[in-house]
Amino acid sequence: MNIEQLSKRLETVVSYIPTGSKIADIGSDHAYLPCFAVRKGIADSAIAGEVVQGPFLSAEKQVKDASLEDKIEVRLGNGLEVISPGEVDCIIIAGMGGALIASILEDGKEKLEGVERLILQPNVSAKSIRIWLIQNNWELTNEEIIEEDGKVYEILTADRGEPLRPYHEEGHQKGLLLGPFLMQQKNEAFQKKWMQERAQWKKILSNMEKAEQTGVLNERKVELMNKIQMVEEVLSN
Ligand code: SAM
Repeated sequence: MNIEQLSKRLETVVSYIPTGSKIADIGSDHAYLPCFAVRKGIADSAIAGEVVQGPFLSAEKQVKDASLEDKIEVRLGNGLEVISPGEVDCIIIAGMGGALIASILEDGKEKLEGVERLILQPNVSAKSIRIWLIQNNWELTNEEIIEEDGKVYEILTADRGEPLRPYHEEGHQKGLLLGPFLMQQKNEAFQKKWMQERAQWKKILSNMEKAEQTGVLNERKVELMNKIQMVEEVLSN
């Protein structure tokens, strides 16, 4: 991967950036994404945020090597602390766990003024993000699930709007877990992900059952059984 040729995962993320945006890529690592988006004329300018010194230096080098210093600023700092309110209109946070992405958004809430789009690519637990979006009045407007090199990735896009619009009341819990858009499409990557998750939960459940007295129900077991049931309902529909 380089700034001319992104991974399919990052290219999918870029495809949701509105043309002409001022973007912030939080946890930018090598800064491939902002360099690509600015080079292609998709983003007008970018801030690449990094909390770790090593990736921060490699982002700086990447931007300098691409001669994009006039359009891309690399800043060292935790989460959204690298941006000021009103400075960007689109925030990208990719390649981290969903709980970490949600906590970055929560901790930097006051920096979201003027931001119109969030593009979030959690490696796990997209549910934490869907919950945060609802609690903070962001409407999930698009979801994509893709497979690359045997790994499955989810890309969530949110705009300011009506947070419950994509969810149907009776299927709300399923929507939070599986994604209201993704569970309609049920593409191959989706089926693969949830068949794997289901198999893993079943294994955990059976190990728990072996270790316990039969018939004992605890919270964790009930949670796993509910999740297995939700996944089975969606996959078989
Ligand atoms: N966004 C790139 C991508 O999707 O390919 C890089 C993903 S990399 C796995 C995660 C990066 O996020 C690391 O470089 C890490 O240092 C950075 N990171 C983790 N927590 C962060 C935080 N709170 N604020 C800024 N950067 C963070």
